[in-house]
Amino acid sequence: MPETMTNSRQCRQCKQCGACCRKGGPILNREDLNLVRQGHIRHDQLVTIRQGELGYNPATGRLEPVPVELLKICGQGGGWTCLFFAEEENACTIYAHRPATCRILQCWQPEALLATIYQNTLRRLDLLNPRDPILAEINRHEQACPGNLTELLADTGRTGDLSRLTALVRADLAIRAEVAQRFGLSLAMEGFLFGRPLFKQLAGSGIEWVEGAGGKVSLTLHPEGISFVCTLKGIKSGELLNSALPPAP
Ligand code: SF4
Ligand code: SF4
Repeated sequence: MPETMTNSRQCRQCKQCGACCRKGGPILNREDLNLVRQGHIRHDQLVTIRQGELGYNPATGRLEPVPVELLKICGQGGGWTCLFFAEEENACTIYAHRPATCRILQCWQPEALLATIYQNTLRRLDLLNPRDPILAEINRHEQACPGNLTELLADTGRTGDLSRLTALVRADLAIRAEVAQRFGLSLAMEGFLFGRPLFKQLAGSGIEWVEGAGGKVSLTLHPEGISFVCTLKGIKSGELLNSALPPAP
């Protein structure tokens, strides 16, 4: 945690240090709808965290399956820093149009922000035309490849059988590739429409993946990872704390 955040309880006002912006982009809520409608934030600058996917809950300090779908501003270059943070100026490039979460955040007294977590959040459907044919593809993807892998990881760890998980990971990629080609989607737009690929959610779970010819992903159980995966079975979501599973970017 950056020094400024560590000492944040001693602050009484924002020093505009940018530490919060470097810790990750904000989740959007319904107050932010017009920011997207007016073009201040584009769809392809958002990544969907699907219901059930692991995400960092600042209220508990733990990685937990998120109870509702979330839309989050992407990071920069695969890192954590919010896409809209300009390092050179140490400033937000959309400051006048920053999301509600950024306006509420006072790192020295986080209670107001913590009270809003998972409340009133935007979903993909809020940002899409109800007649858009892509909705049927999102629905097909959700049915075929749900975001919550916890139970399946637990079963896989117990049995050592990777076949169901492998089939799911490949179905996820196949749907993405097919729809991306048919609709001419960018990778960034794919992140908004379908969230993170399932295989990217496996990092640190004890299951390794390799990408072969034609983007075909194969999974293997890491010898030291099996026991970890087994511990997923029957635990409460909050007990995922000490896992190496990363939160969604
Ligand atoms: S709210 Fe963010 S920018 Fe302001 S002092 Fe805290 S960490 Fe720094
Ligand atoms: S939108 Fe602006 S204020 Fe909010 S996290 Fe990103 S850079 Fe920081």
